[in-house]
This record gives sequence, structure tokens and C-alpha cells, in this order.
Amino acid sequence: MKMYDILTKKKRGIALTKDEIRYVVQGYTNGEIPDYQMSALLMAICINGMNEEETYNLTIEMRDSGEILDLSDIEGIKVDKHSTGGVGDKITLILSPMLATIGVKVAKMSGRGLGHTGGTIDKLESINGFNTAISRDDFINNVNNIGIALVGQTSNLAPADKKIYALRDVTATVDCIPLIASSIMSKKLASGADAIVLDVKCGNGAFMKLEEDAIELAEAMVSIGKMAKKDITAIITDMNQPLGRYIGNGLEIIEVIKSLKGNGEKDVMDVVYALGTRMAIYAGVADNEDTAYKMLRKTIEDGSAYEKFIEFVKIQGGDVSYVENTDKLCDCKFIEELYLDKEGYISYIDTEKVGRAVQILGGGRETKDSQIDLKVGLVINKKIGEYVDAKTPVLTMFANDENKLANAKEILIKSICTDTLPCVKYSTIKSVI
Ligand code: URA
Repeated sequence: MKMYDILTKKKRGIALTKDEIRYVVQGYTNGEIPDYQMSALLMAICINGMNEEETYNLTIEMRDSGEILDLSDIEGIKVDKHSTGGVGDKITLILSPMLATIGVKVAKMSGRGLGHTGGTIDKLESINGFNTAISRDDFINNVNNIGIALVGQTSNLAPADKKIYALRDVTATVDCIPLIASSIMSKKLASGADAIVLDVKCGNGAFMKLEEDAIELAEAMVSIGKMAKKDITAIITDMNQPLGRYIGNGLEIIEVIKSLKGNGEKDVMDVVYALGTRMAIYAGVADNEDTAYKMLRKTIEDGSAYEKFIEFVKIQGGDVSYVENTDKLCDCKFIEELYLDKEGYISYIDTEKVGRAVQILGGGRETKDSQIDLKVGLVINKKIGEYVDAKTPVLTMFANDENKLANAKEILIKSICTDTLPCVKYSTIKSVI
């Protein structure tokens, strides 16, 4: 087999065979295929696409390039969730203790934030002492004993994807649906779950700006999951404004705690229940959505999900005083309110810019090795459809550096628009695939 012939085929729009895809993934991962040939292939895929079978074969080859987690020591059906990434997305941390309380086994690997989007692992690390790198034995034992464990992704999970993603990043080949779908699903399939619920974000703060693109990505991932014999559903959710009101690592933990105590924002809880009901059904603890919803809701009403969160924090070494006294999660040098010099109903929020402002405050990474400030961020007081006048702060900024605060403020002022009339209300849950 020759890489030159594979490139010629893809250039002409001809589908690659399973063996050819294996040759490419293995050859590139072990260094036999150079970057320039792989770049050419990625660009040809971006232009000519891949059919369902090719996309599946690419996913499986990337999955098999590293470790596949064996969760067989955990009894029962293991269900995982994945979000394609957004601003203020703290769903995993609210939903996991709720699910664990009703008997769903939550054995979860999560990522760190990159760019304008946050990551679950960074959020958890804002609780002093929380260990996101517990041993495999502790991971399995915790799930068996308390129903929940959450760790960072190991470096040996789908290493082929890691290498290919880094090349895509610098060759303008990230925004290609078969490549995104296979990249995400290779890691999900390597994480060992029996069933998967995907939260595909769409809107100005998401990867997929348009709903039709989000649907196409969701369909591609669901198709891969089904071909791999997994139970799988994708839910398209809105990211045209931040999810909830708190953005930033420690600040999002505050919103997690509020939500677990029964004071969750509607948009947040809508996503929690949409994903959670399906996960509960896949796990076999409920046989329909209504029952699943009632079971999950009860965990909030009777405080059991909050208690489970405390248990989870304790068992992974976290200092519970950060949960009990949430001021510790955001004690910053500068806490400043932002006022708009106009009044009206909030009509538009540039969500990516809001995420970027948090990144500038120090809450997100500029490169994957940057140190982040876990306490900085924003609390949004007024969201789309809400009225704001010049005397009411639209948001509150938490910062530890005056220059960063000034830079973030400049971006934020330009990110929020108002109108004289309230906009039409829309749903956070867009569709289910
Ligand atoms: N996230 C991934 O893991 N891969 C992509 O290609 C895009 C987003």
C-alpha cells in the first residue's frame, strides 16, 4: 500500500477501504507517514468528505491506537455523556450526583478547558485538594461504593486522535464533520461505556454555529455509536448565550451547588433533565421518561443529590469547606460590576466573546500548558429577554489582575446588545437525534 495512491483516491472523491484507513492511522501514529502527506489527506477529506463506513473505520482505528478502558469490574450498565463544549456548561457536575443517587453508575473521564470553553476537570480542581488523577483501583472502587468517580483523560486514550488533532489544528482542517465526529467518538468508545448520551451544542458560543451543522454532526456521531453497537442519543442544545449565570471554574462550582440545592436556573435544569432521563433509561433504572424525571427531581427535592456531591468531593480528597462556604471559590482581589450605557431587553450575547473574556481574566488556557486562575470569571445578572437599565449591573466580574480586568471589560461591553422589545422566548433543548 502507498500513501501516494491513497491521497490520489481521496483527491478524486473515492471512498477509502478499512485496510487503507488502518494503514494511514497506524502509519501516521508511528511516524512512518510524514505530516505533509497526512495534511494533504486531511484537506482532501475536508473537501470530499467521508461516507458513514469510512467515518466509522477511522473512529475504530483511532480508538484502537491506545488503551480501551475496561469497566467490567463495575456492575451494571455504564452510561456516559459528552458535551461538544460551550460556555458555562456545568451539566456533568450537577447530573452525575443526581444519577448516582438513583443507582446509575457514573464512571466518567472528563477533559480540561481549551480556548473559550471550560472543562469539568478544571472546575473540580477549584475545590482545594480534589484529586482528578485517582488510581484505576480507586476509580473502580469509588463507583462500586458510592456510585460515582470522575477523572481526567489518560494520555494513552486514542493517541492517534491526539496526534491527528494537533495537525488539524494547524492545517485548517478542524471544522470537518467526519473528522470531528470520529475524533470525539474514538475517545468516547475508548472510555468503555455501554451507552452514550451526547449534548451537541449549537449557536454563537459553540463549535457548530448553525443548527443544521449541529444536527449533521449529531447524526454522524449517533451513526458511529450504533455501528459500534452502543445505545446512543444526541440532544441538540442552545449555546446562543452562556448556560446558567456563572462562568469560570470555581464560580461554576457555586452554580452546581445552588442547582443541587434546588435553585438551578431553568436553562441549566432543562439540559440536566433532558440528558439525565435518557441516561437513566439506558442504565435500566427507569423504563420511561416520566418515571426517570420524577426519580431525578426527587434527588434535588429531598437533598440527596447534594449529599451525594459532598460524599463524592470527600472521597476524591476535596476540602468540603469549599462546598459549604462557597465564598472560598471566588475570593478575588477585584470584584467589579459592569453597566451598559443603554437600556432595554437583552437581545443578543456574543457567547464566544464572553468565554474569551473569562479566558483573558485567566480562567481559561491560551495554550494547553498555561496555568489558569480557578477563582476568576463572571456572574451574568441579565440574560436574553431580561430588562436592564443603566443603573442595574448586567454582570459582575471577578478578577485578580487589573490589566486583565480592563481587557475583559472592553470585550464584554461589546458582547451584549439590547432592544426596545423583548425577544421571542426560545427553548434550550432544540431537538433529539
Ligand atoms: N473535540 C474533539 O475531541 N475533536 C474534535 O475534532 C473537535 C472537538
